Amino acid sequence: MLIDLHAHSTASDGTQPPADVVASARAAGLDVLALTDHDTTSGWDQAAAAAEREGVTLVRGIEISCERGGTSIHLLGYLTDPDHPGLSAELTRAREARVSRLERMVELMAADGIPISYAEVLASVPPGATEGRPHIADALVRKGVVADRDAAFAEWLSNDSPYYVRHYAPDPARAVELVVEAGGVAVHAHPFTRARGRMASDGLIEELAAAGLAGVEVDHRDHDEDARSRGRALASSLGLLVTGSSDYHGAGKRNLLGENTTAPGVLEQIEARASGITPVLRP
Ligand code: AMP
Ligand code: ZN
Ligand code: FE
Ligand code: FE
Repeated sequence: MLIDLHAHSTASDGTQPPADVVASARAAGLDVLALTDHDTTSGWDQAAAAAEREGVTLVRGIEISCERGGTSIHLLGYLTDPDHPGLSAELTRAREARVSRLERMVELMAADGIPISYAEVLASVPPGATEGRPHIADALVRKGVVADRDAAFAEWLSNDSPYYVRHYAPDPARAVELVVEAGGVAVHAHPFTRARGRMASDGLIEELAAAGLAGVEVDHRDHDEDARSRGRALASSLGLLVTGSSDYHGAGKRNLLGENTTAPGVLEQIEARASGITPVLRP
């Protein structure tokens, strides 16, 4: 039973449409896939139709970009009610803030002589997608300025870059509460990723656990063995579930579907904690 609980599509910054992500999951031998686009549920319906066709079990999710004191925190929300007013208002606000933020980043880059315009970036954003820095990278790749997204991030797009601009993002404790209020299950995504300024502290994860956090994504490409040990120890001391996943982005990242996976018993507990308003879809 292979379970991968974190993947992106063209509903945000993945490179494959939701149906193709599901087909790729089937081809990779996965039994269960979670679609978790940044700040949006817009890929859910296409993924659900494809999951039924492909015989893949689908967990509908989101990855919420949060911020606390300049540290970027990603929160996975599984099986939430997509129409919960509080959560959907927060996601809409975050997506709208991303538009002007991307435009501002491009202005700063262009003023410094990097050959890019916001119109060119928009041409690389799939219709309706949550805009993100990877779409600036795609525009630069398309123009032949850089070879791939990794190169664009290394040169110009990292959190430490002079062109980095913040955008409105909810506080992580509030986001955990909203996921729970919306009947879903909250899991802290890749808490020990180093490339986003400062990482989450043990104290913050403890605070999130008190707010209703259910688990931590320990097995993830961004975590070395030390980070994984630290994650497992923290999860065990706080009574949190441990998940593993690929954070697949199609051709946008090296991460491969199924490269890290979640135990079946953990998925059962995630399902048991959810309200059931958005069920796990079994073919
Ligand atoms: P944003 O949400 O606009 O702040 O952009 C952050 C997103 O960019 C993250 O969710 C990652 O998926 C993606 N990202 C970060 N670093 C890289 C990289 N080196 N190559 C490709 N994508 C990246
Ligand atoms: Zn992403
Ligand atoms: Fe993330
Ligand atoms: Fe992700």
